[in-house]
Amino acid sequence: MIENRKGMLIVISGPSGTGKGTLCERLFDNDTSIHFSVSATTRAPREGEIDGVHYHFITDQQYDEWLAQGAFLEHATVHGHRYGTLKQPIEESIERGENVLLDIDPQGAISVMEQKPDCVSIFILPPSYDALRVRLHTRNTDDPKEIQKRLGNARGEVKQLHRYQYVVINDHLDMAYEQLYHIIAAEKQRTTRYFPIIEDF
Ligand code: 5GP
Repeated sequence: MIENRKGMLIVISGPSGTGKGTLCERLFDNDTSIHFSVSATTRAPREGEIDGVHYHFITDQQYDEWLAQGAFLEHATVHGHRYGTLKQPIEESIERGENVLLDIDPQGAISVMEQKPDCVSIFILPPSYDALRVRLHTRNTDDPKEIQKRLGNARGEVKQLHRYQYVVINDHLDMAYEQLYHIIAAEKQRTTRYFPIIEDF
């Protein structure tokens, strides 16, 4: 049997503090076919974030240059910082039959859905607004002003939920991960992406 697979673009969004990052890390640990798309951003790195791994941390000038060169598949200002998805590494990855995961905000996600209608779009919801507030405070990665900004933007982000194909509520991490895993597992088996050849047929 010969396996033939076309790479898949997976777009994941959800308010800051929903636990998207943890869910995505589990996916990368358990499924080596999924590759993270490293975005460019003008925001400052947080403690422990590595340039080229978590983001390409760039200056406004570099961002403007990449924008002018058409290097971004999508770009958006989120919580007052600029972010962009680089086109070339994604195209190369998909070409190699890899699955590429984009963790981007709804503005960017909707733009990707319009440009790449065969992408898989998933929205991660927190169980409540209060849970989000608690998580943002306990993870301790952002200052109180930044947290307020992120909480303020969360309601607007959740309003875009209906634009996505799938929704997962991250109430319980293991259950949310199971759902995410199964969505991706099913999407991989679509006949538009998977073309196995059985030699004796
Ligand atoms: P953070 O600053 O917490 O890493 O990310 C803030 C928000 O920006 C998150 O919702 C994240 O999904 C989004 N984001 C990260 N990279 C990109 C990107 O390349 N494009 C867009 N549109 N949003 C992004």
